[in-house]
Amino acid sequence: MVDALRESMRGEVIGRDHPAYDEARRVWNGLIDRRPIVIARCADTADVVQAVRVAREHRPLVSVRGGGHQVAGSGVCDDGLVIDLSAMTGVRVDPTTRTARVAAGTTWADVDRATQRFGLATTGGEVSVTGVAGLTLGGGLGAMMRTYGLSCDNLRSVEIVTADGAVRTASRDEHPDLFWAARGGGRGLGVVTSFEFDLHPLGPEVAGSLVMYPYEDAERLFRAWRDYALEAPDTVMPEIGIWSFPPLPEIPEELHGRRMVLTNGVYIGDPADADPVLAPLRRLGTPLVDMSATVPYVDSQSALDPLFPDGGRYYWKSHFLDELTDEAISVLVAQEARCPSPESLIVVRTLGGAIARIGDDETAYAHRSARFNLSIDASWPDPELDGAAIEWARSTWDALAPFATGGVYLNFAGLGEDIDAFGRAVLGPHEERLGEIRRIYDPDGLFGSAAGRP
Ligand SMILES: Cc1cc2nc3c(=O)[nH]c(=O)nc-3n(C[C@H](O)[C@H](O)[C@H](O)COP(=O)(O)OP(=O)(O)OC[C@H]3O[C@@H](n4cnc5c(N)ncnc54)[C@H](O)[C@@H]3O)c2cc1C
Repeated sequence: MVDALRESMRGEVIGRDHPAYDEARRVWNGLIDRRPIVIARCADTADVVQAVRVAREHRPLVSVRGGGHQVAGSGVCDDGLVIDLSAMTGVRVDPTTRTARVAAGTTWADVDRATQRFGLATTGGEVSVTGVAGLTLGGGLGAMMRTYGLSCDNLRSVEIVTADGAVRTASRDEHPDLFWAARGGGRGLGVVTSFEFDLHPLGPEVAGSLVMYPYEDAERLFRAWRDYALEAPDTVMPEIGIWSFPPLPEIPEELHGRRMVLTNGVYIGDPADADPVLAPLRRLGTPLVDMSATVPYVDSQSALDPLFPDGGRYYWKSHFLDELTDEAISVLVAQEARCPSPESLIVVRTLGGAIARIGDDETAYAHRSARFNLSIDASWPDPELDGAAIEWARSTWDALAPFATGGVYLNFAGLGEDIDAFGRAVLGPHEERLGEIRRIYDPDGLFGSAAGRP
């Protein structure tokens, strides 16, 4: 298989004997240590076609890697073929049609930089080094989502190489079934080589609110925040979390390592209009520090990057909630107090708005009516804490399950076995339809593994 790839591809083919092998198999999550047979680092769509053809012939386990940020490390497999898109980067903006064509290995930082040159943006994630591909194919939660929809809602089309080696465009007009599936259920359909996004006017500066409150007031603050979030206009995506900041220069020294309640929101519109929307976030209690400011949109989108270092150890799980009851808040705060590592956080994002205005059956994404996403992000640097940190995330998830919809956000899944176990929780009523579409485009299950296992 390695020779067949080397003979047919322009990009690098990295086998186990290659000096770059150990670097190439690494992903963002340092907990993941997988040893594929070979990594096919595609240079272009033609390389992807070749890699798929070789995979058809040799039938290895296949995983597809975009930005390598899936917490479960599903972009890399053991003893199989990694089709690696990380060298296929680039963003082409058309300001007239307000669209951007984004190559599948691109990260959000590059999308934001390129689109902001024209005063445009689309919904990306909240950490700019995350890959566009995995994030968009699983849905895509971010600061702009209540105003303009999830990342996947902003897709006009994708170019995808399916299991037969054909290069297809999927859009509302071409292969609409594949396009439906790609928006929220996009794993295991093929290899997406580029994404075409709708863009919206925003920036170059945005007003953001970032306020830290005392941990001791957590329950009361969460309740006040919830009441605000339920009434907030669609131009903001309010968030709240419990976290301690590492000693970063941007954070006042007296707050380093101190556990705090953080609230945050970015106004998606002209900063001059932001105050009435964001001011309530500063009045939820007595702030320890208020770091609210008007900043360039690209800075706002990358502000959290240093807090999620590459190579740290991570295990995340999430719930969707229809309501955030007082009882759920008490359980959340009690669970948080048991957390074994200061790097971990629990964060609640507000949904609704534009997400909920799209019909349940219009895309494969299955959680449109939920009001909140709650993510339990166990993060720790020390391998000795592996067991305790994972146990904390799992028991916190279990404790909060009675308050949740039963739905799970695929993009925040912690390990391969979680993705397998979730099944219906991720796709809800769309599971059957997605299965049918997978059988049409991948009848022999070439990408079956990419849907879950690795
Ligand atoms: C620090 C951090 C912050 C995050 N913040 C957010 C956030 O704000 N909002 C949010 O929604 N999510 C967020 N996530 C989760 C993120 O959406 C997922 O981790 C996502 O999978 C990352 O995409 P990637 O391309 O980097 O992943 P990869 O690990 O490269 O890929 C993940 C999976 O996506 C599929 N895939 C990737 N590329 C392709 C392709 N070209 N064709 C077909 N399938 C492909 C494969 O099944 C692969 O296993 C965050 C993750 C991290 C680590």
